[in-house]
Amino acid sequence: MALKRAFIFRDRDILVEGGGDAAGAETVASFVDADIASRFDDRANACSGILLRPGTPAPEGTEFQPLSAYFFAHDEEENARAARMKGLCSWLEATRFCPSCGQPLQMHSVENALECPACGRLLFPRVEPCIIVLVSRGEELLLLRNVKDTRGVYACLAGFVEIGETLEQAVRREIREETGLEVENIRYVGSQSWPFPDQLMAAFYADYKSGEIRIQESEIADARWFRPDALPPLPRAGSIARRLILNRITEITNTK
Ligand SMILES: [Zn+2]
Repeated sequence: MALKRAFIFRDRDILVEGGGDAAGAETVASFVDADIASRFDDRANACSGILLRPGTPAPEGTEFQPLSAYFFAHDEEENARAARMKGLCSWLEATRFCPSCGQPLQMHSVENALECPACGRLLFPRVEPCIIVLVSRGEELLLLRNVKDTRGVYACLAGFVEIGETLEQAVRREIREETGLEVENIRYVGSQSWPFPDQLMAAFYADYKSGEIRIQESEIADARWFRPDALPPLPRAGSIARRLILNRITEITNTK
């Protein structure tokens, strides 16, 4: 297969060339089999995704960059391609054995799917729906610091959608569980593929209705109301959380 494109990943990073574009198909040859954790060949688009093992160095003239920063610097079409290849590589790396009978899986000859040679079970790539929500109380924004955060960053509230729930029910439940607050006027804002490893983030705004902040201490280190002119460190550029926060501040400023 003559490759038109390749995307090379390591953990949450993408390999880029000096100009900031994804390292080209010719760079793939710089890696030996032992460097590669998984490889997905998208035959229809002559495009490959390579997930490198942790610690694999960048070849000369290239460097690793956070994929979220790559998203910030490129357009939606390119980001969708990169997110798709990252998601497929992570899925392949994590899906080696048949969940029904335990045999090693093989790539299906036609479909973008894995097939069990013993029992015939087919496994398709998964997407995990998540919600992310920014809650406002007048001009104040509810921002939270995760227990895993080490950089002092405050972000929006996010969580997985449970089976049987609507997205709006997931928004209400996550806010109630993690902060003890009730919200109203939930508005869908947009969505973003977040392939770390396989999330689809559906983003919302919501307005505070009632309650006092009571954090769920297993998940949240701190949650507070912030005024737009006194914000804490925010999530990286390229993340939907940052876009939600900055767009909301623009809304507030424009209605003054
Ligand atoms: Zn099987």
